[in-house]
Amino acid sequence: MADCIFCEIVNNRMKSDIVYQDEDLVVFNDITPQAPVHTLIVPRKHIESLHDMKPEDADIMSHMVRIVKIITEKYRLKEDGYRLVVNCGINGGQTVPHLHLHILGGRRMTWPPG
Ligand code: 5GP
Ligand code: ZN
Repeated sequence: MADCIFCEIVNNRMKSDIVYQDEDLVVFNDITPQAPVHTLIVPRKHIESLHDMKPEDADIMSHMVRIVKIITEKYRLKEDGYRLVVNCGINGGQTVPHLHLHILGGRRMTWPPG
């Protein structure tokens, strides 16, 4: 997808701090971290948001959730816990229109979110 920052990153046309990748997903550190650990799990396929997922994309979401375990083990987040976030659309606070899952950890989160 033209002009999509995350398509640029997953296709290696733009630099990022990649911590994991496979044929379907790329995980990299957020450029503006909101916690000591802040990574983004991004499918290689351009899907604008959670709301735009189609039945045939179901495997992508389950793959993303499976990779959470690998990443949270890598950063030893299991014991103290962590937060997963998917912002969807304007009111959800989504700023990059390419589906991604935030993993935030290493500090105590608050609720409700802002
Ligand atoms: P959203 O607001 O859409 O849920 O999350 C987008 C995230 O992408 C934000 O946390 C933002 O800091 C991050 N981000 C935006 N542009 C870049 C970039 O060029 N590189 C990286 N690594 N992260 C980015
Ligand atoms: Zn994209």
